[in-house]
Amino acid sequence: MGLLKISSFHKHRGDDVEFHDTLREAEHAPAKIYITSLFTYSWKPVHEAAAFYRTLYPDAEIALGGIYATLMPEHAGLADVDNVHVGLLQSVERFMPDYSLVPDWESSIMFGTRGCIRKCAFCAVPKLEGKVWGPAQSITDLVKPGHREVTLWDNNVLGVPNWRDIVDELRELNVKVDFNQGLDARLIDQGVAEKLRQLRIEPVRMAYDIPSERNALMRAIPALETAGFNRRRMHVYTLYNFMDSPDDFLSRVIDLLDWGVVSYPMRYEPLNSLVKNKYISPHWTPQRLEMVAKARRVLGFGGAFPPYEGLIKKLKAARSFEEAFSLRSHPSDKRRRAPRNVAGTIESLTTGLTRDRAAFRELLNDPATLAYSITCESCGAEREPGERAFALQDYAGQYVGFVCPNCHPNRKWINGLWRSVLGESFSRNGQSTRSLPVGVLSRTVH
Ligand code: SF4
Repeated sequence: MGLLKISSFHKHRGDDVEFHDTLREAEHAPAKIYITSLFTYSWKPVHEAAAFYRTLYPDAEIALGGIYATLMPEHAGLADVDNVHVGLLQSVERFMPDYSLVPDWESSIMFGTRGCIRKCAFCAVPKLEGKVWGPAQSITDLVKPGHREVTLWDNNVLGVPNWRDIVDELRELNVKVDFNQGLDARLIDQGVAEKLRQLRIEPVRMAYDIPSERNALMRAIPALETAGFNRRRMHVYTLYNFMDSPDDFLSRVIDLLDWGVVSYPMRYEPLNSLVKNKYISPHWTPQRLEMVAKARRVLGFGGAFPPYEGLIKKLKAARSFEEAFSLRSHPSDKRRRAPRNVAGTIESLTTGLTRDRAAFRELLNDPATLAYSITCESCGAEREPGERAFALQDYAGQYVGFVCPNCHPNRKWINGLWRSVLGESFSRNGQSTRSLPVGVLSRTVH
């Protein structure tokens, strides 16, 4: 959406625009190239795109923005770009996306509002968008004539005082509406549900990420039903692999199925994750995460757990998490390698993530280790650019050290290392010292 808005902005100025969703030569050599980025773990294609277009058009100015660039600007800056844009690009914010570049799209996508009134520790929205604001203008202008569907990416639309204005406009437009990022169940009472019912919302999405949201959902679901929404068309995102335990996750899934709504499990990823599905919370194990993933494929539908009678029975009758998510084994299972536990985060007992919490992960062939020579923090060996090495990062995505393959962190000692570093390498205000305590590292490695 960001790129499409930038296109509208430039066309408004009289510029010619080309849109590339694969790496290819442009029809006309560009003066400026914008590259967007999505989740942090999808960083590699971003760097490849930068390198590809830099080689083709060395004189063009290349700008990189988007989610990854905002959450990890230091890492993103290692791409071959002229500048990294952090946060929203306010100058294009209110432009309608240039749908002529994506003629197959049948739905208008937009943000009617930005930001969120809350600061959930697992969520990137407060960092990406800040406090809640909007709607700054009529959203009708953002709906392409002819589109019969509107998808709102607002992260907490009900948190905006005048959200009813948006509903009124959408009702006038008579379009199907998807509040794609979910509605905050804590803000839904009977009055809110009745107002929402003025729209054709399909489906109604909410979240049950932490146990304390239970009462809110117990209030919101009947309110929405009374207003006329079908429970089976209520989809509730269900976070796991964060501060929760597997048993806690199971009881939230049972709650939702018991209430007749669909549970959509969402595996937690740290905000600076560079490898998808590698993070394992201290309360979870690779085996248990795999059980959930498999159950979603086998017992669920489209990755979700619908309130099927058999499924509810199975989960409620189970005496443990293992029993709840166990499946009959298949011969091919034996050939599958067990997932390895090689990364994770030490969580303190306080709720909420803070910067003084360190997350280390191995970054094989990370651009930092490809672009610069590094010194192994453990044994002192020099590694030339491109030689195999591993980078360690703090929670904010800053590099705090490198190790060579001989000192490769393995799971036997990595927890000890984290604890040591948490105590010795990070000050209370969360500033990293940018150097690992070599003594601690050597002691732990060897
Ligand atoms: S309410 Fe939703 S959007 Fe807001 S901080 Fe929490 S998870 Fe993020």
